[in-house]
Amino acid sequence: MFTPKDYKDCPTAEDIIALLKKHTKEDAVLIKKAYEFSQKAHEGQKRYSGEPYFCHLANVGSYLAAINVDAETIAAGLLHDALEDASITPRNIEEEFGNEVLTLVEGATKLGKLRYHGVERHVESLRKFFIAMSHDIRVLLIKLADRLHNIQTLEHVPEEKRKRIALETLEIHARLADRFGMGKWKAIFEDSAFPYAFPEDYEKVVAVIKTKRIADEKYAEKMHHSIQKELVANGIKNARVDYRVKNLFSLWKKLKRKEMDPNKVYDILAVRVIVKTVEDCYRTLGIIHKHWIPVPGRIKDYIASEKANGYRSLHTTIFRGDGGIIEIQIRTEEMHEEAQYGIASHLSYKEKGGSNGDLDKNMAWVKELAKWQKTVATSDEFLEHLNMDFFKNRVFVYTPKGDVIDLPEDSCPIDLAYTIHSNIGDHVSSAKVNGKLVSIDTKLKNGDIVEIETKESASPKRKWLDYAKTTMAKRHIRNYLDKNSAIGAIAQKLFGKK
Ligand code: MN
Repeated sequence: MFTPKDYKDCPTAEDIIALLKKHTKEDAVLIKKAYEFSQKAHEGQKRYSGEPYFCHLANVGSYLAAINVDAETIAAGLLHDALEDASITPRNIEEEFGNEVLTLVEGATKLGKLRYHGVERHVESLRKFFIAMSHDIRVLLIKLADRLHNIQTLEHVPEEKRKRIALETLEIHARLADRFGMGKWKAIFEDSAFPYAFPEDYEKVVAVIKTKRIADEKYAEKMHHSIQKELVANGIKNARVDYRVKNLFSLWKKLKRKEMDPNKVYDILAVRVIVKTVEDCYRTLGIIHKHWIPVPGRIKDYIASEKANGYRSLHTTIFRGDGGIIEIQIRTEEMHEEAQYGIASHLSYKEKGGSNGDLDKNMAWVKELAKWQKTVATSDEFLEHLNMDFFKNRVFVYTPKGDVIDLPEDSCPIDLAYTIHSNIGDHVSSAKVNGKLVSIDTKLKNGDIVEIETKESASPKRKWLDYAKTTMAKRHIRNYLDKNSAIGAIAQKLFGKK
């Protein structure tokens, strides 16, 4: 079975540091310290694969370094399982690494409690929750890096767990990576999860694509040399030409729309031309069109109007001259980096620079969000609903099973009970928040684990109308009271008592 592998058995601290485009001495010291601390904390623990548990953390650290996040995030990535899976306390981390690293580790730990049950309503909450809880996008990047390694090592996980994890990865992690324009991570998430989530479809796609891809690949090999030659002849120097193969999962999604006929998918293989400047992009397009006839209606200018997730490139499809056609993508180095790492390329170390080095990263995050929100306003994707006001006024709580439910601010266990089911709402007797018994009008906070206890004899009280925040809960309570007070009134008439 094919799955893309993009991890090392166990990168060293030096491997991780070497991935950074730029770093200070202090950065290197911090990363090395976190590396050694984590190695010691997880000593003796093993993964399902039998390899040392710490190798997971070393890989997470290296994924984060590869997208050039700051040293604190890499340190937190190396430490992200230390609170949960090793006997390290928040105090230990704060003392050794400071508050910033601790906040990141705690954020990642909290996100780790999520569970996916494949209920569409919950999936939606889950995606929103991921974002809302990650006040700092770096927390989200740590969790994505965490999953990136876990999904590639899924074969070692007990079989009964694989499908759930694979589906969750497709629904949550791949979609988030896509939304953040992180094309490379998205492809790894998808193609690693695909064979476990939809084994039969996976086999089908592999079979359908096999011969087609070999033929295309041969052609792309030839093609990229001729393009390179034409560009040099026309004065475009330093162009890099290569090709990319469409990742299997997105190919499958496309094939489903095209009667599974690979001849109807034009970008299974695309030639990629990377040039210096935006002007060179358009000139390259002109040079290519002079030598190969473009397929009408397939020229796309994602530079003039970028895609919702920030993707920029020129696309054209040309007749190869041998009966086949092939897509060509033209972009600058900067666009290329953005296409792979999306939002991370905006947060990268080089951008921080100067004395404003610590410039509020959250600001950049909020700005990015606002930008996406504007650009995806017409799409039916979940980010359409994403606006900061919405999140400011919502709390996200867990059921004991790990489902995430989002409620309006100041909601109490009564609201949660009615959100789960009206019958549960009508019979709430008590509630536990984070394992402690609380009164049922307690205001819930982000990340609370809320357990509702019901009793057949329990029923809504008039006071509940003041406690409940959601219109749904209020409606049910009112219904109940009306219905029962009517019965009460009749009973009073008939029997002279309440
Ligand atoms: Mn982990």
